[in-house]
Amino acid sequence: EQDVADYRKSLAIRVSGFDVLRPVKTFEDCGFSSQLMSAIMKQGYEKPTPIQCQAFPIVLSGIDIIGIAKTGSGKTAAFVIPMIVHIMDQPELEKEEGPIGVICAPTRELAHQIYLESKKFAKPHGIRVSAVYGGMSKLDQFKELKAGCEIVVATPGRLIDMLKMKALTMLRATYLVLDEADRMFDLGFEPQIRSIVGQIRPDRQTLLFSATMPRKVEKLAREILSDPVRVTVGEVGM
Ligand code: ADP
Ligand code: MG
Repeated sequence: EQDVADYRKSLAIRVSGFDVLRPVKTFEDCGFSSQLMSAIMKQGYEKPTPIQCQAFPIVLSGIDIIGIAKTGSGKTAAFVIPMIVHIMDQPELEKEEGPIGVICAPTRELAHQIYLESKKFAKPHGIRVSAVYGGMSKLDQFKELKAGCEIVVATPGRLIDMLKMKALTMLRATYLVLDEADRMFDLGFEPQIRSIVGQIRPDRQTLLFSATMPRKVEKLAREILSDPVRVTVGEVGM
């Protein structure tokens, strides 16, 4: 296991949690479908970034994760690509409806970026992505959600509005991502996050990503996630 320790060190990865899976070296190591591999190649991604190397095997095995790495380190693909695998693995249950993957981000700009990134990997699989954030007509969003989707990318406030309007149900939601958790906290979204999490089945997989990990965010993470593995890349602030 010394080689695993050395490899983590070379990528500036630190982990804590029980029996953490070894980081991958290539996208091929992850066993992604050929459609997913071609979508990855189409992006020009040659190899996984450090956070992706360690997050992919953990997330693909269904384990909750706290991922901490600075801006620009490829956190979006670290949760979007395994989300596609998660969705494709679900048995088709016709009576169930609503998104399987739910991603919360602090601002509409960020939610929009994640929406675009998700679409690139979702489209080849026929997976539908809806964006739910302010600045767009609520009626249009309501109609789009009613038409159905497998992934929702949302800001917390607007997602709660849509849930209140019964535009969607969380019955099928089993993959929850809280992105830029530190910023969501700074913007005062903690009550909204707690409300959304409370509406999603407890047997979900939960992923929390952040550039920094202040104590209050760590505390929320420990409450919302189940036995998470914590992965840190490089030096990060508290
Ligand atoms: P973060 O969320 O950590 O701030 P992003 O997910 O926004 O980072 O990614 C930053 C940039 O890196 C984006 O332009 C993205 O397309 C690119 N990127 C992500 N993964 C890879 C990869 N494996 N190889 C090369 N570029 C990547
Ligand atoms: Mg990001």
